[in-house]
Amino acid sequence: MENVITTHNVRLYYGRKEALHGIDLDFPKRKITALIGPSGSGKSTFLRCLNRMNDLTPGVTITGSFKLDGKDIYSPKTDVVDLRKKVGMVFQQPNPFPFSVFENVAFGLRLAGVRDRKLIQERVETSLKQAAVWDEVKDKLNENALSFSGGQQQRICIARVLAVQPEIILMDEPTSALDPVSAAKIEDLLLDIQDKFTIAIVTHNMQQASRISDRTAFFLDGRLVETGLTKELFIAP
Ligand code: ADP
Ligand code: ADP
Repeated sequence: MENVITTHNVRLYYGRKEALHGIDLDFPKRKITALIGPSGSGKSTFLRCLNRMNDLTPGVTITGSFKLDGKDIYSPKTDVVDLRKKVGMVFQQPNPFPFSVFENVAFGLRLAGVRDRKLIQERVETSLKQAAVWDEVKDKLNENALSFSGGQQQRICIARVLAVQPEIILMDEPTSALDPVSAAKIEDLLLDIQDKFTIAIVTHNMQQASRISDRTAFFLDGRLVETGLTKELFIAP
């Protein structure tokens, strides 16, 4: 099976405290991998290593190997802006930019130097459709993204990530700040796009992990205690 990201013997220290004790976890192409485990077990910390978000935290030391399509994520040659285009991220709290829905979703394309207006329009529409929010925003594309509900804002943020067609999308508890109906819409859309994208999702919701993921990785105290096919790890209800 082809992996988009492979990691080996990942250790991370916050100061002297070792928060990750040697993690080996790979992310197969076009699969959804769920990272589950108790609060404080290192799921977010590990996820944030994959797009070098932990680099911003003072006192953090990271060792081990991280490869994206075979290339070292932590190489001095890595352009972090380019890396973040290939490794998209969706956070727990929806964080659209304070401008229009259209400009939110077009943002990454403009950064990537796409100038063709028709291409941008098509990609914005496709992405909003894939993120299952098109019907709700299609007549309001010029409205401020912050004027929409939390669930809609999160789907706009997902569209913003999809638009740049990343190699992998990292999601850190993307539904835990939302009501159950909004959360279910996001689970549904992830199932709809799973054959086109590679996804790593941190969740503390076992039902969500068992419903949407192909593979599950269990974290405990900064260690990976079990990894396997979700359908073999969870007993179907
Ligand atoms: P999870 O995502 O599984 O809830 P985290 O990755 O957030 O776990 O946290 C793992 C451990 O690292 C916890 O003990 C947490 O308190 C600690 N931690 C997380 N972020 C920091 C930080 N910026 N500085 C120091 N310790 C941190
Ligand atoms: P969440 O559950 O939303 O991931 P956390 O409570 O794990 O939130 O962390 C919120 C922020 O605080 C993160 O930026 C994390 O890095 C930081 N943090 C978490 N634990 C610690 C800690 N023990 N010391 C310092 N910063 C921490």
